[in-house]
Amino acid sequence: MSIISKDISKAVALLKADKLVAIPTETVYGLAGNIYSEKAIKSIFETKKRPFFNPLIVHIPSVEQLENIVSHIPSKAKLLAKTFWPGSMTLVLKKQSTIPDLITAGKNTVAVRVPNHPITLELLKQLPFPLAAPSANPFGSISPTKPEHVARYFKNDIDLVLDGGACANGIESTIIGFENDDPIIYRLGALAIEDVEAVVGKVTIKNSKEISPDAPGMLDRHYAPSTQTFLTDTISEEIKKHLGKRIGVLVFKSDLKDDTITAQIILSKHGDMVEAASKLYDAMHNLDHQNLDVIIAERFPDFGLGKSINDRLQRATFSS
Ligand code: AMP
Ligand code: MG
Repeated sequence: MSIISKDISKAVALLKADKLVAIPTETVYGLAGNIYSEKAIKSIFETKKRPFFNPLIVHIPSVEQLENIVSHIPSKAKLLAKTFWPGSMTLVLKKQSTIPDLITAGKNTVAVRVPNHPITLELLKQLPFPLAAPSANPFGSISPTKPEHVARYFKNDIDLVLDGGACANGIESTIIGFENDDPIIYRLGALAIEDVEAVVGKVTIKNSKEISPDAPGMLDRHYAPSTQTFLTDTISEEIKKHLGKRIGVLVFKSDLKDDTITAQIILSKHGDMVEAASKLYDAMHNLDHQNLDVIIAERFPDFGLGKSINDRLQRATFSS
């Protein structure tokens, strides 16, 4: 029997019994457990093979619940939460002492978000506790944006994937922390930096582990297909370097019409970056299952969601 189901009451029962459930969000599917259950949280790390130094995001059903999780809310954090929640933005703030160290990797801050997906919002409302939910993929691999991706990764390890269809935004949330009450972007994501800046003014980006030990999950290689992947500005030139191989290409909008390539996925024929972001991981899953020798991805324009897409493509590549 398939583990994919739309049954919210089954998800509630499993989560109350310290079990894990994969949940749909508008960013990617999450592997969720009760934040107060040591058993559930340990099993999130074990199932994903995620190192314990990499903290988890806490999911809550409404802005009002933020004060139960964090101890200090800078005024710009309040403004961002009111503007963008429910939505694809995670805030990292000083934690309440009741938030377990396992969730935060021992840090005194906690990452928290109100996701924008009707099924998961309903689930969170029915539960007496928030959910910790990292992306529902083995550590380092491509994040899941469809229930089938999760089932393929974890079919023997979890009981339920709550079916919410394909994720509307398709890349992870934008993570914003605070230094001296000023916002700092720790991870580029599904909320464009320009949208954040329109609300709180210019923000600094610190999204590599070299400059930001505060964002411990930002490893150089992550979100990666098992097929060798290259990122390039000049796709025709890169293809020439691999002639004779089975080549898959991932392009933004233009059809290459090149018969030396085995597979091509165009992310948005209309050049719409929102559409491209929503299809990115599904395209990577797809190419990774076509028995190719190499995947060549085209770099996006470096603004708006293009910045976030480039960040993920960069981390998916062998060459950096
Ligand atoms: P994932 O849920 O798999 O998308 O990963 C969550 C990411 O959130 C981690 O990799 C961290 O980079 C970030 N994160 C979670 N908690 C914190 C925290 N307390 N401080 C800084 N970054 C955090
Ligand atoms: Mg992840």
